[in-house]
Amino acid sequence: MTDKTSSEVHNERNGATGEADPLATQPINFLGGTGSAGASSPPISFLGTPAATPGAPTFAAVGEGRTDTKLLIIGSGPAGLTAAIYAARANLEPIVLAGSAPGGQLMITSDVENYPGFPEGIQGPDLMAKFREQAERFGARLVDVDIDRVDFSGRPFRIWARGVEYQTEAVVVATGASALWLGLESETRLRGRGVSACATCDGFFFRDREIAVVGGGDTAFEEATFLTRFASKVHLLHRRDSFRASKIMVDRAVANPKIEVHLNTAVDEVLGDAKVEGLRLRDTESGSQTEVPMEGLFIAIGYKPNTDVFRDWLEVDPMGYLVVRGETGSAIEGVFIAGDVHDHRYRQAVTAAGDGCKAAIDAERWLEAQGITEAATATAW
Ligand code: NAP
Repeated sequence: MTDKTSSEVHNERNGATGEADPLATQPINFLGGTGSAGASSPPISFLGTPAATPGAPTFAAVGEGRTDTKLLIIGSGPAGLTAAIYAARANLEPIVLAGSAPGGQLMITSDVENYPGFPEGIQGPDLMAKFREQAERFGARLVDVDIDRVDFSGRPFRIWARGVEYQTEAVVVATGASALWLGLESETRLRGRGVSACATCDGFFFRDREIAVVGGGDTAFEEATFLTRFASKVHLLHRRDSFRASKIMVDRAVANPKIEVHLNTAVDEVLGDAKVEGLRLRDTESGSQTEVPMEGLFIAIGYKPNTDVFRDWLEVDPMGYLVVRGETGSAIEGVFIAGDVHDHRYRQAVTAAGDGCKAAIDAERWLEAQGITEAATATAW
């Protein structure tokens, strides 16, 4: 499970050499929720279609069906599918527009060892298949499409996806956020084989290893410091000679004997066939390249929340995340928000799932207050 997200601010701020997250597409692609690649994950695809984990159930698109509902959920990571489970159990018969690559960031995660209830760990796609099965068991209708646009000007709210208009009295937006990557072919190929974007999820796999973290913001420093719990040495690689990170985070890292900071250093290539074995680094001032042995690489260069399609209707913060009012509300009555699409602090599958639960309960209570649903369901969770 991932510990991060990013924003378009990245592109605005940086003029970076890096690419936007290859997982992020427009129209909105819901690789929301949380997740990252673990150190020993199975082969994965990075073209928006996660490869199946061996033995894992596959997700099949649902055919045409009803398009009107009391509650429509956008996104199918832990937040969206937990909202779907709760809403379905409250007889709301929710429609979930799950995205063309459903399941959120856990679909590109291998070992998930911190989701409660799985003491032996579970593969990310397997966990999401269970979420989905549970939502469908209670009557949620999942449609694996990306949404093109929304109209939240009045009720029923209108949402268009692949040429179909959906209408709903209430909405839960749970489109998540995606970690940004450098955009190197070798980084993509070795994701889950030593390349990760989540120290919280994958640090454990790097016990006594020498690893590197890329980035110069708070995330990079936080992750580098966290990773010293496991790694024998953490190299922090930053492309410039000054940091965005707060001074206290930098000072803490610099004082840590396990962390070595390398300024003006970019990663040109991740070396290794089956796993990370080294890095080709470039001095961004002189242009000279060196190859160094390395056993892991954590990318910590920011996140992109999947909010583009909502920007005409919902408030976003300076980093592009949706702004929540109260616990799960938005500026528009009847539109609720859950998961990493607003949360850039915790970014965990379990917190996203909790958020989805809260949003579904809030939506159901709101529908009841409008007289759209019966009071009996509102407390029958
Ligand atoms: P960030 O502040 O945008 O920093 C991203 C860093 O990655 C920058 O140093 C940037 O380099 C570098 N970068 C971007 N693209 C790159 C590329 N293609 N190649 C190499 N380097 C690249 O993102 P963040 O660190 O994730 O932080 C986001 C927000 O969350 C910030 O407001 C931060 O304060 C907050 N946050 C707070 C905490 C905390 O308080 N505990 C922890 C984490 C995050 P340049 O500097 O050269 O642009």
